[in-house]
Amino acid sequence: MDKELLEILACPVDHAPVREEGDRLICQECGRRYPVRGGIPVMLVEEAEQPR
Ligand SMILES: [Zn+2]
Repeated sequence: MDKELLEILACPVDHAPVREEGDRLICQECGRRYPVRGGIPVMLVEEAEQPR
């Protein structure tokens, strides 16, 4: 994924930065995992996987 795009993305819950991990973006604060579909990050709480 484009590094500049990654830098402007933030978790919609706590506005913390996210890091890329495989085909997911992981919030560095709450640990929610956001999917990337066709290269497009889906930064939606409803789509996120909650950490357990
Ligand atoms: Zn978060």
